[in-house]
Amino acid sequence: MSDCIFCKIVNGEIPCYKVYEDAEVLAFLDISQTTKGHTLVIPKEHFDNILYCPEDLLGKVIRVAQKIAQAEVTTLGAQGVNIIINTNEVAGQTVMHFHVHVIPRYSDNDKLRLEFLSNKLEKLNLPSIAEDISKSIK
Ligand code: AMP
Ligand code: ZN
Repeated sequence: MSDCIFCKIVNGEIPCYKVYEDAEVLAFLDISQTTKGHTLVIPKEHFDNILYCPEDLLGKVIRVAQKIAQAEVTTLGAQGVNIIINTNEVAGQTVMHFHVHVIPRYSDNDKLRLEFLSNKLEKLNLPSIAEDISKSIK
């Protein structure tokens, strides 16, 4: 028995409002609807976060996120979508089973603010940072 709440959803031990399911991927409504239709997409197999998800499976999870985003635009009337992956506690991850948030956006006053994206650090050595990241990509 896993203590992971999303593994429990995969195993049917706790309920969810299912949006999509195939052999490897499950999508269900987030219990706290940031906007109407806020959906989580997860691999059925447990990986703590995106850092540990094998690439083939990651591709499948992201493809399902895209399909759900498309459905939210065509069916729910969303004008846009935020697709968000929080990774580790410092980045706001509270459930340690890899998941992708698909959050439909209806207007610029829907109370969802991605304030961290407007943070502007100054005086960083961008060439050096780019090189550090680039050289350690496997
Ligand atoms: P994160 O902060 O990225 O780890 O997001 C975890 C998300 O899981 C939050 O938005 C929660 O509202 C959501 N959540 C937690 N428990 C459940 C549950 N039982 N069913 C659906 N969503 C859940
Ligand atoms: Zn899990």
